[in-house]
Amino acid sequence: MRIVLLGPPGAGKGTQGVLLGKSYGIPQISTGDMLRKAVTDETPLGMQVKEIIRDGKLVPDDLIISLIEERISGDDCRKGFILDGFPRTIEQGEALEKVLPGSVDVTIYLNVPREEVVERLAGRLTCRKCGAVYRKRDISVCPVCGGDLYQREDDQKSTIEHRIKVYEENTAPLVEFYRSKGKLVEVGGMGEPGDIFKALQENISKVGS
Ligand SMILES: [Zn+2]
Repeated sequence: MRIVLLGPPGAGKGTQGVLLGKSYGIPQISTGDMLRKAVTDETPLGMQVKEIIRDGKLVPDDLIISLIEERISGDDCRKGFILDGFPRTIEQGEALEKVLPGSVDVTIYLNVPREEVVERLAGRLTCRKCGAVYRKRDISVCPVCGGDLYQREDDQKSTIEHRIKVYEENTAPLVEFYRSKGKLVEVGGMGEPGDIFKALQENISKVGS
């Protein structure tokens, strides 16, 4: 099962990706996580990406595509994979069609209203160690691994509006791109993650196979 996760930043793609990965036994591939790791590890790629992310801009296509192509050729992707954060533009969607004969099996669109997205992102903390994401409240260490929690630079108020604008202009058109291919599963991203996942599974079984 080859899955693409679509939706605005803060829609819960990461959370649903983890649940889907467990359910289908396939890896979740987050380009965001891959890029952030490169930044933390201070690789040449990471240094290049650091400034781009800080400005809330998009990382150039050729760089992302070669990163993805290498990753999905890995042994653990033989049964499939879940792409989270890619493709991010129509151009990337078309590039993915080229490196992936037969395209993806299903594209999941988590639909969450704009106001909700702003609220979620502004109140989001990320674990420095394992990458888990939490709502802001009275915790400062990760309940899962004990790592430090911090507010990601791109979750700060000044960049949130910009990220949403970038999403609406560049990424949102992919919803119609995949809908026209008959690959789209649209699910409301409001409510409990478990309930959203159930709705997802029901809808995937209608599209897939
Ligand atoms: Zn953690």
